[in-house]
Amino acid sequence: FNGRLQREEKLKFISELAASIAHEVRNPLQVTRGFLQLISNKSEDASKPHFSMAIDELDRAATIITDFLTFAKPELDNNVTIMDMQQELMAIVTIISPMAALSGASLQVDLPDKFYVQGNPSKFKQAILNMVKNSIEAIEARENGIVRISMREERGKAVIRISDNGEGMEKEQIEKLGEPYYSTKTKGTGLGLMVTFRIIEVMNGMLEFRSEKGKGTEALIRFPIVNSEL
Ligand code: ADP
Ligand code: MG
Repeated sequence: FNGRLQREEKLKFISELAASIAHEVRNPLQVTRGFLQLISNKSEDASKPHFSMAIDELDRAATIITDFLTFAKPELDNNVTIMDMQQELMAIVTIISPMAALSGASLQVDLPDKFYVQGNPSKFKQAILNMVKNSIEAIEARENGIVRISMREERGKAVIRISDNGEGMEKEQIEKLGEPYYSTKTKGTGLGLMVTFRIIEVMNGMLEFRSEKGKGTEALIRFPIVNSEL
């Protein structure tokens, strides 16, 4: 009997339960939103603001779910595989391109080398996506916004860099990253980076932020490279 192991098991159970509940809740939220929109279109002007507030609140709930599990469909096991990082990152770029285009950000991708890293692909996607979303949000309303995603081998590690020339952060802000509910956005959840840090830690990776207020931000993620034949 091992108390620590039992606690780990409990945490794993809770996170899987949370993922499946979130997954199930997203659909009814979406359906309700659709109907509200429909009724709102037919309603008289006086009640329109109420519909609009209701829809905003539904969107807020959906954002909280999205920061937790854009891709992580409920999984019964933790499904750890050997991931082709080039392939995984290209898939993320495909998903994020429309969002970048919508906010006028140009996306630069530089993934010359092939590496393999051990992890759960859907959780990995979630972790990177939360960061790229933050970069896109950081350059919102700025001219010539660029988000860069690159990967290289450095001293036996796979190093992923996600950088932007957005609003940047003060030192005190960088220290708070990953704290639950820490957000400077009016519609932020403050959950995205908490989830990201946790996923990278579970993958034996390291996440580090460098930033300068008014200039931009760079996130560096390091993972141990594994042999594809393992
Ligand atoms: P949210 O995006 O919902 O605010 P996150 O956990 O994703 O929550 O991020 C927390 C905070 O970290 C953000 O509100 C923002 O202040 C800061 N932040 C994260 N990434 C960046 C970035 N690339 N540029 C500037 N600020 C950032
Ligand atoms: Mg975020």
